[in-house]
Amino acid sequence: MIYHSTRNKQETADSRQAVLKGLCGDGGLFVSDALGERKLDPEELLTLSYQELALRVFSLLLDDYTEEELSDAIEKAYGTTFSKNEVTPVTKIGDDWLLELYHGPTSAFKDVALCMLPQLMSKALSGSGKKIMIITATSGDTGKAALSGFQDVENIGITVFYPDGKVSDIQKLQMASQEGRNVAVCAIRGNFDDAQSAVKEIFASEIGAELEKRNIALSSANSINIGRLIPQIVYYFEAYKALRKNGTIQAGQEIDFCVPTGNFGDVLAGYYAKLLGLPVHRLIVASNANNVLTDFIMTGVYDRNRPFHKTISPSMDILISSNLERMLYYLSGKDADYIASLMRSLKETGRYEVSGELLSKIQEIFSAGCADDAETEAAIRKAYETDGRLIDPHTAVGYKVLSERRTEGVPAVLLSTASPYKFCRDVYESLFGAANTGADGFAYMRMLSEKTGVEPPEPLRELQGKPVLHRDVIDIADMKQYVLNAALEKL
Ligand SMILES: *Cc1c(COP(=O)(O)O)cnc(C)c1O
Repeated sequence: MIYHSTRNKQETADSRQAVLKGLCGDGGLFVSDALGERKLDPEELLTLSYQELALRVFSLLLDDYTEEELSDAIEKAYGTTFSKNEVTPVTKIGDDWLLELYHGPTSAFKDVALCMLPQLMSKALSGSGKKIMIITATSGDTGKAALSGFQDVENIGITVFYPDGKVSDIQKLQMASQEGRNVAVCAIRGNFDDAQSAVKEIFASEIGAELEKRNIALSSANSINIGRLIPQIVYYFEAYKALRKNGTIQAGQEIDFCVPTGNFGDVLAGYYAKLLGLPVHRLIVASNANNVLTDFIMTGVYDRNRPFHKTISPSMDILISSNLERMLYYLSGKDADYIASLMRSLKETGRYEVSGELLSKIQEIFSAGCADDAETEAAIRKAYETDGRLIDPHTAVGYKVLSERRTEGVPAVLLSTASPYKFCRDVYESLFGAANTGADGFAYMRMLSEKTGVEPPEPLRELQGKPVLHRDVIDIADMKQYVLNAALEKL
């Protein structure tokens, strides 16, 4: 598989290089024109474990890693880090199915990818004498998932910055208690956007050259990396397997998937699964009040010039869904010049409109809907009261949209992207109203568990009382020096 930019077919990389680079030099995303040439027969996968299934998918798409490397990476990523044997179990919710993606070390779906990416990066580095320092700015969730995935991975260090006082008590403790000899965690005086901009500046600054002399490169764990995207394909096949085994579908029968969406990575993996041979009927894109994708899929106009809403499903508060570019590339007939022109327009005007022909192709596969916060809260109540299921606000957005967009007679799978306990305050208040003031995250966790009888996941339960290992708080201006010190100390 040769990978190249969505915006230009001349810039190529093999899968190892693509994993190490993340983003193409021209700002485009790595894609391969060979995707879908070799397919997987889902019927042949029914008896495989999650790990064996993962090996089949990775061998197809990351074909210049050896089978030994991939097996070892899979064992490290999924061998014991998930609390369920199935890794991503499928359970009943009303008449539909819930694909539970939140049984990893940080109780959210990004774990599935962030357990695997570091292993792929580390293998790609081995023998080169090179090392990598990952830098991430987080508004709360991704930071912990990245720290956990990169903890003690060979030849790689990680530095995470979060805005002081602007993440939840639980998120803060999750990061501040992170173990590992290669991790640095630091709060900054400023907000998330400040942290994000400062990180971008660090990448472009002289410390890059400074570290280069010591064979250390700076990199990110961004969700556009193929090493994050490809691991997400596996659980779509896993869902098919589960529905075949429990008798819901016949061989080859199509399924609808409804996906709570932000950056379009998760739902794009469903489209890749379809290209690889999975019988997918529709991919239903569910958005919160930041419904730029709903409008796009309905009208063909992508327009980010609109108010930004802070919602109770914060991981979907996104106005530029980067991974959409890959879907447009494939559905435009792999027309890199056309994609480059759309992305130029997005950059210059914040907007683009696709051709009528492309829009109809998109609508054959994708449908879309959205839920604001009040509708999300109502969905949390409905799932609990009518289906007896406790779901998190992101999953609840999908639950509401699925109820409107389902196809009659087609079995539907709703991707559940976080444990309800990750967002226990909002879930609790949706179900039982506001509690006494002053209750912290752990108090909400206890109350929610007492009222519903549902156990919080172990990584969250165990958190209280964990020692704080990281206490640094610095100014934005000092972040650069901080990264330099961390790289010299940890690598
Ligand atoms: C990141 C995230 C999403 C959105 O996934 P994308 O791949 O960005 O579309 C949905 N739910 C949760 C809980 C997330 O963390």
